[in-house]
Amino acid sequence: MAYIEPAPIKDRENPFESMMSRFHIAAQALGLEDEVYNVLKAPTKQVTVSLPVTMDDGSIKVFEGYRVIHSNILGPSKGGVRYDIHVNIDEVKALAAWMTWKCAVVDIPYGGAKGGICCNPRQMSAGEIERLTRAYTLSMMEVFGPDRDIPAPDMGTGPQEMAWMMDEYSRAIGKTTTAVVTGKPLVLGGSLGRTEATGRGVMVTALAAMEKLKINPYQATCAVQGFGNVGSFAALLLEERGVKIVSISDLSGAYHNENGIDINEAINYRNKNKGSLEGFPGGEKLGSGEELLELEVDVLVPAAMEDVITIKNAHNIKAKLIVEGANGPTSAKADPIINDKGILVVPDILANAGGVTVSYFEWVQNRLGYKWTGERVNRRSDRIMKDAFDKVYRATQEYDVSMRIGAYIVAIDKVSKTYKFRGGF
Ligand code: NAD
Repeated sequence: MAYIEPAPIKDRENPFESMMSRFHIAAQALGLEDEVYNVLKAPTKQVTVSLPVTMDDGSIKVFEGYRVIHSNILGPSKGGVRYDIHVNIDEVKALAAWMTWKCAVVDIPYGGAKGGICCNPRQMSAGEIERLTRAYTLSMMEVFGPDRDIPAPDMGTGPQEMAWMMDEYSRAIGKTTTAVVTGKPLVLGGSLGRTEATGRGVMVTALAAMEKLKINPYQATCAVQGFGNVGSFAALLLEERGVKIVSISDLSGAYHNENGIDINEAINYRNKNKGSLEGFPGGEKLGSGEELLELEVDVLVPAAMEDVITIKNAHNIKAKLIVEGANGPTSAKADPIINDKGILVVPDILANAGGVTVSYFEWVQNRLGYKWTGERVNRRSDRIMKDAFDKVYRATQEYDVSMRIGAYIVAIDKVSKTYKFRGGF
């Protein structure tokens, strides 16, 4: 088929190009019509706002904020809000599209969105961040809504910002509306199980993939890059299921122990050490943190950041299985190298979708006015993650593609079929 704009992969890959190049391959495998391709690649709505905020010294500073709704074909759009100095509309557009595919892969009734404010939250007081968050929320009153678009935390935001958003929105419409955002504090309608949800999904999909590869978890070794929310819970839960975690890392470097790192000990150490593993005594420090990616292990879990597996190091990866806890850890150009080496990759839009799945449960509970037990949350999210894994695996075999392209195929197929039923102009 003759696409109007084949997705380019330039030397310096950016998230949008990486996403589009995979989307393009999957769309071709599916035989997606040009018309539908063009509908799905274009964001539905892009909103840019200027936010004047009074700073603590009395001056007024103007911040730029964004919200991009990539798609609301499957339902209200869902996606985090990022506070970072590098936030820009192109990045927000890419992340919004990513959310569309992620929600579709795990079959939850949401479209995809993302938001951001260009700011440096580390240099702002709590009061300044609160005023900025409330200004952003008010300026997005036409966009947000429990049936329209539901924000969540992302880099630089957390439960406190979500509480302010929910409060500002509720004041503006004159009634408490908890379901307008997810990732709220537990006392304010947050869900049990949300904190560990992403790492838990990584564990569920890793075990499912190990079964396919006939790797016995009790004889398997694993290295985890990134020891924040996703990495530490993934490591802990894999360890609980028998996997030996031989290496972990964070910004301070990588720590290695052939006999297995005690993950509870590492988490306690990090919590007492201002969130850093610096000086962790439970493993020998590796020369550079990067070495972790090239270790001879069965399973590699990149759970830190994007673009860590690239054409520069892909040839040296020795793991049999990569489970992408982070968003976009493998660059699009590295995909064929990894595939040629016969490494199975559980892609980000599947492996880390446990977080948005439990966000969906939070929204469901808020709308029901009811609270589920942690046990119910875990049981249901495990089932969703396992079903999604199986579906993607089947697509992988049916279309003879990698699991990454299989995941895009499942997602694009679902969204395009729904689009055709709903119809357009
Ligand atoms: P986090 O901030 O809690 O943790 C990030 C960790 O990575 C920290 O330990 C940090 O020190 C480490 N790190 C950063 N750069 C590194 C590097 N170059 N080498 C080694 N370690 C490095 O973040 P998080 O919430 O765990 O998110 C991690 C990744 O997972 C991101 O890509 C994020 O987009 C993705 N993700 C998170 C969630 C979620 O629910 N938190 C959901 C889906 C995807």
